[in-house]
Amino acid sequence: MSDAIVIGAGVIGASIAFHLAREGAWVALFDDPDAPKEPSASWASAGGVRSQNRDPRESQLTVAAAARWPSLAADLNAETGFRRGGHLHVIERGSDLTALRERIERERAAGIAVEFVDTRRVREIAPALAPSIVAGAYTADDGQADPRATTRAFASAAIACGSVFIRRRIDGFVRGGDRVMGVVAGRETLLATTTVLAAGSWSMRLAAELGLALPVKVRSYQMLLTTMCGPTLAPTITAVDRALSLKQLADGSVLIGGGVARRGRRGQAHGACTEIKRTRKLGRRGRDRSRDSEDIARTKLVWSRRRQF
Ligand SMILES: Cc1cc2nc3c(=O)[nH]c(=O)nc-3n(C[C@H](O)[C@H](O)[C@H](O)COP(=O)(O)OP(=O)(O)OC[C@H]3O[C@@H](n4cnc5c(N)ncnc54)[C@H](O)[C@@H]3O)c2cc1C
Repeated sequence: MSDAIVIGAGVIGASIAFHLAREGAWVALFDDPDAPKEPSASWASAGGVRSQNRDPRESQLTVAAAARWPSLAADLNAETGFRRGGHLHVIERGSDLTALRERIERERAAGIAVEFVDTRRVREIAPALAPSIVAGAYTADDGQADPRATTRAFASAAIACGSVFIRRRIDGFVRGGDRVMGVVAGRETLLATTTVLAAGSWSMRLAAELGLALPVKVRSYQMLLTTMCGPTLAPTITAVDRALSLKQLADGSVLIGGGVARRGRRGQAHGACTEIKRTRKLGRRGRDRSRDSEDIARTKLVWSRRRQF
C-alpha cells in the first residue's frame, strides 16, 4: 500500500508526485510509457511562463511560481529550458489605456512585478513590433520554458526521491464506501491512503466513474511553428482583443498560438489541425505584429491539442 497514487504524469501529476515524495511520502505515479507524449497538454504546450493578465484567483500561485522558476532546474537536477525574456501584453488603441493601467495597479497590489510601458519603451523591449502599438504591460521576470523537458524533470526528480513510475493507465478505482481506496490497472489493484487524479482533460471521464461531475471545460487550440529566422523577439507577446501569443524559441523559430480554437469534426477529440484557412489567418495575425514580416513568414509545423480550464 502506498501513501499516494498519482494518476497522470503530465506536468501537474509529475510535480505533485515530486513534491509529495520530497516530503517523504511513498508515491506511485501512473501513466503511459514515455509520458509526456502526444496528445497530452504538457506535450503540446507553448511553454509560455507568464505572471500577468491571469485570473486574480491565481495571484498567490503566480507570485510563488515566478520566484521558483529560476532555481527549479537546480531543484530538480534536470533541465527545464527556462529562460527569461520578459512578457509584453500590448494594446493598439488609446481607448484601452485606462483598463490597462487599472489592471496593472490591481496586479501590482497583489505582488506581481508588472510595469506600464509606453510606446518608446515598447520599441526598446521589442523593436520588431509594429509602430502602431500604443503601450503595454511588461513583466521582466517572465519568459519561456520547455514544457516536455520540465514535465520529464519533475518525473525524474520524483523517482530520485523514491517514487515509482508505473507505466500503465488506470482503468478505474477501488472504492470503500464513499472513499477511494486505490486504483485498478488491468487485473491488478493498488491501494493507497490518497489517490490524486491528475489526468488532465481525461480526468472528467475517470471522475464520472465515481459519480463526480468536475466543473472543467476542455478546449482544443491551434499552434503554429515557423522556420528559423534571425533574432527578432526577446519577450513573449500577447495583445488585447487578439487571440494571439508569439514567442521566439531558442533555435530562432517562432511559435504562434493564443486561443484560436481548432475546428474538428464533432466527437473527434484529438488530432492534428487541418483547418488551413484559419491557420493562415493565425499566421497573418502573428506577422501583423512584426515590421519585417518576411522574417517569420514560413510555417513549419501546425498542431492543436486539448487543454482543461
Ligand atoms: C496548445 C496548448 C498550448 C498551451 N500553452 C501554454 C503556455 O504557453 N503556458 C502554460 O503555462 N500553459 C500552456 N498550456 C496549458 C498547459 O499545457 C496545461 O495546463 C498543462 O500541461 C496541464 O498539465 P496536466 O498534467 O494537467 O495535463 P496533461 O499534460 O494533459 O497530462 C495528463 C496526463 O494524464 C495521463 N492520463 C490520462 N488518462 C490516464 C489514465 N487513465 N491513467 C494514467 N494516466 C492517464 C495522460 O497520458 C497525460 O500524460 C497549453 C496547452 C495547450 C493544449
